Amino acid sequence: MEQNCIFCRIISKELPANILFEDENFLAFHDVNPVSPFHVLVVPKSHRTDLKQYCKDDKELLGDLLLMAKTIADENNINSYRTVINTGIEAGQTVFHLHLHIIGGRTL
Ligand code: 5GP
Ligand code: ZN
Repeated sequence: MEQNCIFCRIISKELPANILFEDENFLAFHDVNPVSPFHVLVVPKSHRTDLKQYCKDDKELLGDLLLMAKTIADENNINSYRTVINTGIEAGQTVFHLHLHIIGGRTL
């Protein structure tokens, strides 16, 4: 847990969020500033800033992250959606704790 990380503070329940799903390794919650009617973030509970901090040893966790997105979309009857991971400031990353966006619920 990183004290200054907003997502770590959501994971530890120090900050509120509209949580959709939680297990041992992941938390999924609604984006506070949604760009579509369904905009959910899936976040690994362990703090790492971005995809660059992951390697081959993490393939199970990264696979689970993607499957988690699929399951959450399925369970919320979202049939078409975009999954996005921003890596780095120039790509638009603003929170430096890896997260996967699920964006759907409208025509993109
Ligand atoms: P990024 O731009 O880093 O890929 O995405 C960060 C996302 O986190 C943004 O869509 C932003 O709206 C969302 N976000 C930032 N702060 C909070 C927060 O405190 N709570 C929630 N639920 N979402 C947040
Ligand atoms: Zn964090």
